[in-house]
Parts: sequence; structure tokens; C-alpha cells
Amino acid sequence: MAKQCIGIDVGGTTAKIGLLSSEGVILDKWEIPTRREENGAHILPDIAASVREYLDRHGIGTEDILGAGIGVPGPVTPDGNVAVCVNLGWKQETNPEKELSRLLNGMYVKAGNDANVAALGEMWQGGGKGHKSIMLFTLGTGVGGGVVVNESVVAGFRGMGGEIGHILVNFDEPDSCNCGNHGCLEQYASATGIVRVARQMLEASDEPSVLRKGDAAFSCKAVLDAAKAGDVLALSAVRTSMRYLALAMHYISHITDPEIFVIGGGVSKAGQFLLDIIEEYYETFTVMGKGRAKVGLATLGNDAGMYGAARLVLDRE
Ligand SMILES: [Zn+2]
Repeated sequence: MAKQCIGIDVGGTTAKIGLLSSEGVILDKWEIPTRREENGAHILPDIAASVREYLDRHGIGTEDILGAGIGVPGPVTPDGNVAVCVNLGWKQETNPEKELSRLLNGMYVKAGNDANVAALGEMWQGGGKGHKSIMLFTLGTGVGGGVVVNESVVAGFRGMGGEIGHILVNFDEPDSCNCGNHGCLEQYASATGIVRVARQMLEASDEPSVLRKGDAAFSCKAVLDAAKAGDVLALSAVRTSMRYLALAMHYISHITDPEIFVIGGGVSKAGQFLLDIIEEYYETFTVMGKGRAKVGLATLGNDAGMYGAARLVLDRE
């Protein structure tokens, strides 16, 4: 029997669990609720119980499993420690690698930050397939990211590697970011950031725009759709936001020189239209790297973390 691995992506509301072949094919997947009560004390035991029950039910022995990878929504140090994880209710240091391994009768377990793990998943089977060094940007409510160099996640000393949403891109921003700083990438290139930029432009001019007519609380999708339809103000907002994203990409190019930038998250549903804008600015900024890095779309959606978590296991020495 070919070896298989387990990929787990723990979120604040559910944990996605998948059984994958070592070639990266999802053989089965399911979800269980994330119980955050009692400081998240049930989360790892619940996952272990679900995995054990699944393997028993399907007659799969632990010797057929290479290991389990787990992505968690917080910084993870290289030795698998999570100092605190607000999203899971973990208030004290937890080591999901050791704890889950113990709960799974000694199975090999490797943990990583969820965004970093998603990047690894996109490199393996998604928008970065065929490449070894990629950078994933997840443009959702916030901006997440992950850097993969030579098929390994760059998690850094404290697990802060890839926290690209809070890279400073504008010295002159008066508004503060959720992190307390001013001028973070997330303030422009996230879904909320794009809406914020559009709103400021509407207030600063009398330029006609479809965004003035509809719902005052317009969505990011409304801005992107209007921009696509040729609305001058909306297009200007999207271009401003993506210019900041391209600036961050430019910095990354000069640090890890990825083969491809993969753009995911809800904002990326705007597709090629968005990529064209990003690419245009990126090429303008990156004089030394002109034409080197490609820009593509993420393809795995919410399964990226599960793929990447399973992929973590394959690096076992
Ligand atoms: Zn910030």
C-alpha cells in the first residue's frame, strides 16, 4: 500500500482534515468543529480522536501513514511551539507537534502557520505547481502570505516569516492598522483596504462613479466589478491598492527571488484583470528582476492549508 499522509488545517470555527497520497491527491476529507472553550483544550484531542476513528473505520494502520501535518492560525517556531494563539483560545505555550503526536500514539507530526502552510500547498498542487520557490499573497479581510524557498516554508526564528500584511508600504498614512502601525500593506490590498481606498477617493472628488449610486456600504466586489466595467474612480482605487501590493512583491523579489507570485483570497476572484494591474506595477518597480517572476492565481481555495499541511510531512528526514 502506498504511503499516505494526513493534512489538518485548524481554523477558528472548524478543523479541516484530509487523507492525501504522497503524490498530493486528496483521497478523502472531512471537517470537525473547533471547540475553543476552556482555552481551546479540546481542539487537539478532538482532532486526534477524529483521525483515529477514521483510520480504524477504514482499516488503515498507522504504519501506512507517513505522518500528520497541521496548520494553525498563529506563529509557529521551527521546533513546533506556539506561544499564544488567540484564534484558538490557546493562552499558554502549546506544542501541537508533541501533543498531537502523543495523542496519535507516536505518529510523526509537523506543525506550521496556516498561511505559510497554504503557500506550501499552492506550491505543491496549486497555482505554484511546477515551481520550488513561490510567494503566496492571500488577499481577504486581511492580507496573509507565505514564502516558500526550495520547497521549504520560510517561517523564521519566531514564526513571523511571511507576515507580509504588515509590511510598511506608505510612510504618510494617518489611519492606523489593526496592528497599531500606520501604512501597512493590509490597509490597501485587503478587501477592506480596497473599499477604504475607494471611499477616500469618493470623498476627495466629485468624479462621477457607480459607487455613489448603489449601497453606501459597498463591498470590495462592487469596487472590483465597477473597475472592470470601466468606472474611472473604481479603477483608480484598485490600481492604487495593487500598486502597494506590487511594491511589497518588489521587496520580496530582492530578498527571496521567487519564481512565481501566487495571488489568492477573495479579492483574487477578480482574476486576470487584477493580475494585469499587479504585473504592470511589479514590472515597473523591479528593474533588476524584469520579466523574471511570474504572477498567477491560487487554485486550491480553502483546501490549500490541508494540502500544505500534508506536504510538511514529506520533508521528514
Ligand atoms: Zn499592520
